[in-house]
Amino acid sequence: MSKFNDGKPYHGSNAVSHGKLRGATDTDYFYFFCPKCAHRQIMRILEYGLHDEKAQNPYNEFFKVQAKSAFTLVFKLHCEKCRHTDFVKISNMGWQGGRYDEANGKVIPWDTAPSVSAKQP
Ligand SMILES: [Zn+2]
Repeated sequence: MSKFNDGKPYHGSNAVSHGKLRGATDTDYFYFFCPKCAHRQIMRILEYGLHDEKAQNPYNEFFKVQAKSAFTLVFKLHCEKCRHTDFVKISNMGWQGGRYDEANGKVIPWDTAPSVSAKQP
């Protein structure tokens, strides 16, 4: 099996960070929209990789419903229209809930979330 991104470093650019990468499902398949093109141009997924994996989910101790494991998948996205290539990760080790603030593109965690400092509103 070949290494993800031919073993080269990968990280999503500013174009996909902080809420700028959007997408939607058609049936139950999820599609990413190019962050540079208008009209929800659908991107191809060129490859995926396992970025991280753990047998135990580090958040399970804080919740009644348990995740089976912990994982982070990485996807290499490409827009055929404008030739933009980028990366996105999907993980169950990031935010575990809370509210997504559209204006700032940041997740506002629950007050009780384990990684939250005391200064939440
Ligand atoms: Zn594009």
